[in-house]
Amino acid sequence: MKTGNPRRITLSWLIVGGLFLLCGFLGVLQYRWIGEVSAAARDRLRGGLQASLFRISQEFSSELANACRALLVPSSGIPEKDIAANYAQWKNPGRNSQMFRHIAVAIPVKQSVELRMLDTDKAAFVPAEWPAEWSGLQARLENLLNSEMRQGRSFPGPPMEDQGMTFDLPVFGPVPGTANGGRGNLQFSRAESPSLIFELNPDYVRETMLPELLQHHLGSGGTLDYMVEIQTRQTPAKVIFQSDPGAHVALNADGVIGLFDTPYDQIFRGGGGRGGRERGGGRGPGFGPGRWQLFVRHRAGSLEAAVAQARWRNLAVTAGVLLLMMASVGALITFTRRAQKLADLQLDFVAGISHELRTPLTVIHTAAYNLRGKLAANPAQVERYGVLIQQESGRLKDLVEQVLRFSSAASGHVIQNPEPMSISNALEETLDSAKAVLQGAGCTVEAHIDPGLPVVMGDPMALKQALLNLVHNAVKYGAGDSRWVGVSASRVGGDAHPGVEIRVADRGPGIPADEQAHVFDPFFRGRAAQQDQIHGTGLGLHLARKIFEAHGGSIQVKSAAQKGAEFIVRLPAAPGAAA
Ligand code: ADP
Repeated sequence: MKTGNPRRITLSWLIVGGLFLLCGFLGVLQYRWIGEVSAAARDRLRGGLQASLFRISQEFSSELANACRALLVPSSGIPEKDIAANYAQWKNPGRNSQMFRHIAVAIPVKQSVELRMLDTDKAAFVPAEWPAEWSGLQARLENLLNSEMRQGRSFPGPPMEDQGMTFDLPVFGPVPGTANGGRGNLQFSRAESPSLIFELNPDYVRETMLPELLQHHLGSGGTLDYMVEIQTRQTPAKVIFQSDPGAHVALNADGVIGLFDTPYDQIFRGGGGRGGRERGGGRGPGFGPGRWQLFVRHRAGSLEAAVAQARWRNLAVTAGVLLLMMASVGALITFTRRAQKLADLQLDFVAGISHELRTPLTVIHTAAYNLRGKLAANPAQVERYGVLIQQESGRLKDLVEQVLRFSSAASGHVIQNPEPMSISNALEETLDSAKAVLQGAGCTVEAHIDPGLPVVMGDPMALKQALLNLVHNAVKYGAGDSRWVGVSASRVGGDAHPGVEIRVADRGPGIPADEQAHVFDPFFRGRAAQQDQIHGTGLGLHLARKIFEAHGGSIQVKSAAQKGAEFIVRLPAAPGAAA
């Protein structure tokens, strides 16, 4: 067998090497680009997150401001009736109408502040005791009242951070005349200015207002992309809301923003947010830092982790694509090489078969020539030439039949009309056909055919031809000095899967390990067969395997150097076959 053009092989290896190098280069470029894209994605994500947080804070304050604005009345006196009526009206159609748990008015009387709570059933304010949790607010209002009375100081700034869920606003708003200017230091004419007190409904804030707000700005497809925790600014901080109970988001947050400021500026100065009063060095959004803090952390663990995950995903996909490309190149090379090998084998086959045809044709031609001459008068010579012509034309016929069978096997017609047949008979007939060849090589045949072999469904002609090829090969390649061929047949597979095993063995040089996998390939001829110029086409074993497989059976080879070769054939018994 030829090994192919060395220049062509070198060139194809160079191309393969080049393609692999290109794939590697592309991989490195892709790795860098994905790194750059990831850094940009991280910055974009961070910017987007901060903008969302800002909008959350802004919207929360706007909701509060809208509600408060609806309740406040721009009149003088103590317009409790108007506030109660406004409340009833506001609450009626109201989105967020459950926002407040309590609404009250604190009215300064002498040095203390009296509380009147809105009774929603009666739609009126009724005197009430200060609730225990409002004590901080009460103390602050009283302190301010006293200090205002003494020093005439301005209206109190935002409430202190330990005021819980309550906040207060002046009932009358800024002093008429300064409200529209709206940017000055707001002074109130009366120290005993009443305040409207609002207490947020914690359940509503936790279960409805915040989830809706967060879903709107940080959610996608019904879930939040981020874990959220809201805490008060007090020390120790109190948790107001957790999207994932138990997750301590504040410890390692990707973003933070202030939340819940008294909406004083928005109501009395008409401010939309930006430029509003800020505390704490202007850290928060336009509405000041708020008395709560909202922390967010990405569900992947952190923004960095989310970006890293996306990066690894991209890298994995890219690596997959590159691997696929490399595998395709590999597959292409393998297929091309296989096709090339087959083409080489076919060329060898054409050369080989021409030689195989020429030898018997030459013998026949010479014999015919001699028969026409003087030798024809000698009956013994005529007989000899007759036998020669018969032998060589028989070889030619076998050769042509083998090629024809190969071409019909290639088109799927390996066997014809299977019928119940006896393997013992088939083997005996095979050995009978091989008698001349066996005798010619001086071989003894040791045959062990078990009695009672099961019947098989088979094409007798095809099976005999396949078995004959095994016996002929044993003589051609394996008889050598030992001049021994072994043939055996036995029953196998028990009752569950009965079948017949046929073994054809010789004690010749055997088949080299690297050739064993190829002996059933079409046109394959071993190195020794070619070197020793043993006649053959390289189709016999290929056809034999096709024939056994077409019967539902198999063939395998066992061989070791200088220990001969053994071909083992298995055929299934005919369905329902007994002995
Ligand atoms: P052919 O005999 O025409 O070459 P086969 O398909 O029958 O084709 O065999 C393929 C190759 O397998 C042979 O060329 C030979 O190298 C090897 N081979 C087959 N049978 C034997 C055997 N019994 N001992 C050693 N080699 C064998």
